Amino acid sequence: MSRTEAAPDQALGDLTERLLAGLPAEAVLTDTDVTASYAHDMASFCPAGTPAVVVLPRTVEEVQHVMRTATALRVPVVPQGARTGLSGGANASDGCIVLSLTKMDRILEINPVDRIAVVEPGVVNATLSRAVGEHGLYYPPDPSSWEMCTIGGNIGTASGGLCCVKYGVTAEYVLGLDVVLADGRLMSTGRRTAKGVAGYDLTRLFVGSEGSLGIVVRAVLALRPKPPQQLVLAAEFASAAAACDAVCRIMAGGHVPSLLELMDRTTVAAVNAMAKMGLPETTEALLLAAFDTPDPAADLAAVGALCEAAGATQVVPADDAAESELLLQARRLSLTALEAVRGVTMIDDVCVPRSRLGDLIEGVERIADRHRLTIGVVAHAGDGNTHPTVCFDAADPDESRRARESFDEIMALGLELGGTITGEHGVGVLKKEWMAREIGPVGIEMQRGIKRVFDPLDLLNPGKLF
Ligand SMILES: Cc1cc2nc3c(=O)[nH]c(=O)nc-3n(C[C@H](O)[C@H](O)[C@H](O)COP(=O)(O)OP(=O)(O)OC[C@H]3O[C@@H](n4cnc5c(N)ncnc54)[C@H](O)[C@@H]3O)c2cc1C
Repeated sequence: MSRTEAAPDQALGDLTERLLAGLPAEAVLTDTDVTASYAHDMASFCPAGTPAVVVLPRTVEEVQHVMRTATALRVPVVPQGARTGLSGGANASDGCIVLSLTKMDRILEINPVDRIAVVEPGVVNATLSRAVGEHGLYYPPDPSSWEMCTIGGNIGTASGGLCCVKYGVTAEYVLGLDVVLADGRLMSTGRRTAKGVAGYDLTRLFVGSEGSLGIVVRAVLALRPKPPQQLVLAAEFASAAAACDAVCRIMAGGHVPSLLELMDRTTVAAVNAMAKMGLPETTEALLLAAFDTPDPAADLAAVGALCEAAGATQVVPADDAAESELLLQARRLSLTALEAVRGVTMIDDVCVPRSRLGDLIEGVERIADRHRLTIGVVAHAGDGNTHPTVCFDAADPDESRRARESFDEIMALGLELGGTITGEHGVGVLKKEWMAREIGPVGIEMQRGIKRVFDPLDLLNPGKLF
């Protein structure tokens, strides 16, 4: 009989006792009100179980002790960062150990010569960005949740962000990892050198593995020289199609903006309602473009002309860095603001080839009309990565059903247009069925095989991805 099948109180007592043999008392939480607060991330419609215990280790050895205990007692482990995830990837399963890495939050090294930072997984993204900035360096991946989310979670989900159109996503910045495996062994992958091709790229395999292969306890991250302060331009359009046309013109014209974001009318109104930002509510689509080049004003002028050629009704370059930052704040508030529209949101994450962006947004409008729903669209437009956000009242069963259906229809549309069901938020539990559709039975079989090599007892974040 496994521990989870034993009498619940006895099993929990054994588990707690074994954990306390290698962890300080304050690192092991069993109060059910407290443990329940660690049950889920920020995604809607994702089932979450009841954790048996929450552990908050501070050292690699403590993480190893947790994994050895979990393997000995056959208890599942759910790794967590800040739980800002939007796919249920950090949701607890019944009787699991929630392994929160938030206390492992030290920046161990910032090295301007090697252009790397070495960090623990619980470091908050914005904290790292600010710290490396003091050395004239830059860590580009910048999810809108950057003030909350952790590097461990960013690696778990392979997260993107606003500046990825120029600088790429998390995967491009993770050079090496220390990972605690399911049985407690410590494995180092990758490198801290500028180049290195020794063996299979296990580092890359872990990026986006959603806690299903091992626990990241240390990461070597690539840094770049800090670019000049970016300047932002806001362009208003009478239709989302015209804004998408402008995106195509900008990218086809060889421009390399440091940010190219789109907010539709619903999103603009939601942000104004929440934060009184004074964004133009007459616009159907607001496009934000930025450049961090030596002469951003010249680049913005060129892009502004392309926006006008695509039919922009107004093009307003920000006067200075402060005004630029205000526009970015408005963009970063979008998802939170849309939540206030009907109380709850389901945030899609469909990424299509840029050339199909207009088709996707048009299709989303049709889906919203058919289901009589408000769906705000906010997009990392330069990457073709959209977040159609279904706003609904969770207390209304019919509206909830329509929300779920429209959410699925948007993913189907994304696949039809040659895209993917997730550009950056991951699969978690929310999109398991859709991942199978996207990668097919052979792909799923191979992925399961990889999972078995690392986690033969299926203890690491079970029930996610597949
Ligand atoms: C308002 C808002 C805006 C957002 N904007 C963006 C955006 O622009 N771009 C974007 O990509 N995402 C965005 N997100 C989603 C989310 O912030 C990211 O997915 C983020 O990377 C999650 O980090 P976290 O620390 O909260 O991780 P969690 O949600 O706690 O965990 C995420 C996944 O990583 C795994 N994990 C966490 N730590 C470890 C570890 N140490 N070892 C192994 N596995 C681990 C978990 O098991 C889980 O599967 C947004 C979310 C919100 C709420």
